[in-house]
Amino acid sequence: MDLRLTGKVAVVTGGSAGIGRAIAHGLAAEGANLVLVARDEERLRSVDFPGVRVVAVPADLTVPDDALRVAAVVEQEFGGADILINNAGTGSEEKIMTAPDDRWQWYWDLHVMAAIRLARALVPGMRTRGGGVILHNASICATQPLGYEPIYNVTKAALVMFSKCLANELIGDNIRVNAVNPGLVMTGDWIKTAKLLTEGTDQTWEQYLQKIADDNAPIGRFATPEEIADLFVFLSSDRASYTVGSTYYIDGGWLNVTT
Ligand code: NDP
Repeated sequence: MDLRLTGKVAVVTGGSAGIGRAIAHGLAAEGANLVLVARDEERLRSVDFPGVRVVAVPADLTVPDDALRVAAVVEQEFGGADILINNAGTGSEEKIMTAPDDRWQWYWDLHVMAAIRLARALVPGMRTRGGGVILHNASICATQPLGYEPIYNVTKAALVMFSKCLANELIGDNIRVNAVNPGLVMTGDWIKTAKLLTEGTDQTWEQYLQKIADDNAPIGRFATPEEIADLFVFLSSDRASYTVGSTYYIDGGWLNVTT
């Protein structure tokens, strides 16, 4: 299937690692040029793909002005963007009764305000180009919460609703907005946590993660980042032209509800 992404300009937040890096790789393989955003400059600048332009913008997306800076670089380097992938994010661990306001605010800024600010900054350019695509990487936890991370669950749920509202506001400009809710995906954080929790125990970190997969995902394993990225790449393309304002689960069967 020709996805007709050659020469498009895609902004991928959190494009230096995990799912974001796999999305960037997938888009580059289809010929899209990239603007990648993350905080760790060295890791970000190490990402490169042959045959396309890759521009790195070190930025902390919890900082309001950084979204404006990303948009300025996009304008300067490419004259606008066709695709925005709001992927940067991270898990949390707290109790609602004891988590202070600033912790809620930090996750709200990262998971929700960054997407709002980047949309405000990049949509004018998409309109000028005649259309675009905005995708939000939320989580199955937006619908089916994990007990240890209420702030993550709440802010990802808000991101999904933002995605829906933005879709309604922008479809008249030929800008398609959708969200993706992955389940278990084997990325650095999971591996780091598993290694920490199994250190000095009889269980290997691989066994620890396999148990999580067995307990939760009917498919019995984690997804690879590439399996998630392929859906993002398809949704980014004109071949997904009737996908508007939806949320696509990609979770190995983990979601328990049928609506
Ligand atoms: P990783 O930790 O592997 O990668 C996260 C990326 O986001 C990195 O590039 C990181 O770079 C960047 N990032 C984090 N914080 C910021 C910030 N403040 N400003 C700019 N960039 C930032 O995460 P995953 O690939 O696992 O997750 C990616 C997305 O997918 C997240 O939104 C996550 O919630 C979601 N998701 C993940 C699942 C999983 O099982 N892995 C399941 C469901 C959803 P740096 O640290 O240098 O800033």
